[in-house]
Amino acid sequence: MKKGIAASKGYAIGKVFIKEDLEIEVIEKTIEDIDAEKKRFESALKETRTQLEEIKAKALKEVGEEKAAVFDSHMMLLDDPEFTGAVSSNIENNKVNGEKALQDVIDMYSAIFASMEDEYMRERGADVKDVGKRIMINLLGKAGSMMDNLDENTVVVATDLTPSDTAQLDKTKVIAFLTNIGGRTSHSAIMARTLEIPAIVGMKDITTSVKNGDSIIVDGAEGIAIINPDDATIKEYEKRKAKFQEELEELKKLISVETHTKDGRRVEVCGNIGKPQDVNQVLENGGEGIGLFRTEFLYMDRDVMPTEDEQFESYKYVTEKMGERPVVIRTLDIGGDKKLPYLPLPEEMNPFLGYRAIRLCLDKKEEIFKIQLRALLRASAFGNLKIMFPMISSLEEFLEAKEVLKECMDELRKEGKDFNENVDTGIMVEIPAAAVCADEIAKHVDFFSIGTNDLIQYTLAADRMNEKVSYLYNPMHPAVLRLIKMTIDAAHKEGKWCGMCGEMAGDEVAIPTLVEYGLDEHSMSASSILTAKKIILEK
Ligand code: PEP
Ligand code: MG
Repeated sequence: MKKGIAASKGYAIGKVFIKEDLEIEVIEKTIEDIDAEKKRFESALKETRTQLEEIKAKALKEVGEEKAAVFDSHMMLLDDPEFTGAVSSNIENNKVNGEKALQDVIDMYSAIFASMEDEYMRERGADVKDVGKRIMINLLGKAGSMMDNLDENTVVVATDLTPSDTAQLDKTKVIAFLTNIGGRTSHSAIMARTLEIPAIVGMKDITTSVKNGDSIIVDGAEGIAIINPDDATIKEYEKRKAKFQEELEELKKLISVETHTKDGRRVEVCGNIGKPQDVNQVLENGGEGIGLFRTEFLYMDRDVMPTEDEQFESYKYVTEKMGERPVVIRTLDIGGDKKLPYLPLPEEMNPFLGYRAIRLCLDKKEEIFKIQLRALLRASAFGNLKIMFPMISSLEEFLEAKEVLKECMDELRKEGKDFNENVDTGIMVEIPAAAVCADEIAKHVDFFSIGTNDLIQYTLAADRMNEKVSYLYNPMHPAVLRLIKMTIDAAHKEGKWCGMCGEMAGDEVAIPTLVEYGLDEHSMSASSILTAKKIILEK
């Protein structure tokens, strides 16, 4: 039995798949035996073809012909003289190793396609990158890092999963995951709760404690994994799993119940989302609004920045789906543990204290920030959309962001495009400085949302990703509680509302205290909403 940090509730009984770490480091080498190097490249192509055929066969069965066709175009690329042929020529002409020859060709095509206006052509660029990456992984002998050909009932075991790894997990195959590193509020843990699959993080050495194909039980409530369990244990966990399902069914009675405390105070229970489609899960779980849309997920898993129109469609979709209910959309919070493949950021000693979120947006107003703000403003015409800025550390920063928003409003007005002139703007209170100065800032914002995931790590100087200091990462530490109380009081003094969108908002132990403090809105992973409603209704 192995223990870790319980990151997402539920039980799973399945088979282990160990996801190898993927580090693509291309080192240029001079090649003597050109024929042998070309052969090595060709066998990577052959391996790639076999994998693609398998994936295509699975896709045909599961998602139909139309979606499976994409793999045909990928396979065609393997024979394309302009692509793989160019790699062979590059090996021959420049006497370089396959990896370097391939990388050059991928880079060349990526640059050409990325500069094209046409959406279809840009997608072809993405195909080249996709196939190129697969060939590269095979060349480097890292096929175990790919998660696209998994069997049903797979429990993924990895050193760590990046937010984009988790965003790609196929819920029809992956029933749980376990990682060596990470804490309860690392983004992979948050994603597990969004996916509603059990997960345990911070297991330290789980990758070396299991083998591929081992059977395994994951108890996401206790943070326990049982490797190769006996029949009696499997039976016991099947029972627990069934009971868990029953309790979930019981909670579903609260889906359309409006949340009030016993003495009649309205408290909104909302959902956090990362992708537009997640809004459906929030509604299915009785969410009364969206308290946090982490827009950075729109920017991940792609090769270029999403355009204003693409973003507008996503924000409009969520806003319309929620009708009159509030939708708080946070501007891009990239940096920290969230990276974009097409936006290289310098390596930093302390990424969580570095160049991220609003700092980066204010630095890249034209290329990034204004595009998003224009899309948000345009979507504000379709419902109850509110704009929230992350990582605000001072009033000046908020006012600067508002200035940029005003510029965007002026532009849209000139262009005759609709938007809500009175769109609400607020900030995440996730840096202690913002909590301490909340009285001052409250005069200027429409709302606060307390981001405890970061607030706790900054207040207690305990990295939210590091399992070694997770014992210090305590939401109920008096210093954290005081900052929360100060923030809520400061908002109320100015007649503003205060919510919370960090994981603490859905923490069963913390909820009663937060309700006592007068928190107006709790926003959390969809899977926590019904339990939170129950606790508040009984309070
Ligand atoms: C937070 O910091 O509490 C928060 C909600 O933002 P994120 O988890 O995306 O950093
Ligand atoms: Mg945060």
